Amino acid sequence: MSLQKAFRDPAAAKRLSAAIAAITTRPWNIMEVCGGQTHSIIKYGIDQLLPEGVNLIHGPGCPVCVTPLEYIDKALAIAALPNVILCSFGDMLRVPGSRQDLLGLKAEGADVRIVYSPTDALEIARKHPNQEVVFFGVGFETTAPTIGLAAYQAKQSQLNNFSLLACHVRVPPVIEALLDSPDNRVQGFLGAGHVCTIMGCGEYVPLAERYRVPIVITGFEPVDVLHGLYACIKQLEEGRFEVENAYRRVVREHGNPAAQQLLRQVFEVVDRNWRGLGTIKHGGLALNDDYRDFNAERRFSVDAIATQEPVACRSGDVLKGLLKPSECSEFGVRCTPEKPLGATMVSSEGACAAYYRYRRLQHG
Ligand code: SF4
Repeated sequence: MSLQKAFRDPAAAKRLSAAIAAITTRPWNIMEVCGGQTHSIIKYGIDQLLPEGVNLIHGPGCPVCVTPLEYIDKALAIAALPNVILCSFGDMLRVPGSRQDLLGLKAEGADVRIVYSPTDALEIARKHPNQEVVFFGVGFETTAPTIGLAAYQAKQSQLNNFSLLACHVRVPPVIEALLDSPDNRVQGFLGAGHVCTIMGCGEYVPLAERYRVPIVITGFEPVDVLHGLYACIKQLEEGRFEVENAYRRVVREHGNPAAQQLLRQVFEVVDRNWRGLGTIKHGGLALNDDYRDFNAERRFSVDAIATQEPVACRSGDVLKGLLKPSECSEFGVRCTPEKPLGATMVSSEGACAAYYRYRRLQHG
């Protein structure tokens, strides 16, 4: 059996769900942090395999979803300038800004390009020395090193027509903010395996100890998610609150030191506005002073743009786990993946998009 098939094996999933049922004696609220885990849970019906009362709360771990509207508006403002080529990952082109999305601006003639890596954007900058090339990058600690590498390479090669509109976020501060929130219901977390592949497990230990919550580092295939849930519920039932690595085939305790070194070299920790959640202290990464010349916000004077979220969209409550997507009155009515009102409907990792794709007939 291939590795992928082994982690999608129905017999293994049934064994794990039976093991979870055998150890569960009471209701628990568990948050899966990552949008990739949410997608897997809804696609494979993992929540429907759990004992009654075990409630999965879909957390804020989709990078496209938590990118604040003001960054979409900043990208739109830069892309509308003459002589600019704006590059980004495909998902970002469909995220609605205040008035339109990047795809709409491209249709009007702006030079907006989909790339698969920030280094593709570097290549475009080398080929077009008389144009300004901007890479719009979002994401967690997982993708930040690739963006950091592009900034490092641009600086080394003095590629002065290249810059970055970078909106990166950090997971531990948002977990802390959720646990500090007066309406918090989360009792245990499935940590995001890919983030810990870079950062390791150590950052989560003080959180688990201080807030008395188990944090289980978990993968993304259905058997991985069930394994993480089993470990989390076992800790809760036994009154233990530890950081546990249930994704050992990928995550090392200390993560990837070379990637961490690159992050320290290029970025600094800043307070960051998360869509729907507000400002999270130390919740983001921004290019540091050594890389200020590659900061597109500075270069194109868009740092003052600030935008209000649309009131009709309740993605903030979805991201805090206070609302299931299907409970939003706009779900499937005015808000669909073709015409999304909010970012959680745009990204394939967004909770609203996952419910729409796999559950809309159930909730229609
Ligand atoms: S269904 Fe649409 S409007 Fe409702 S919270 Fe999700 S993205 Fe926002």
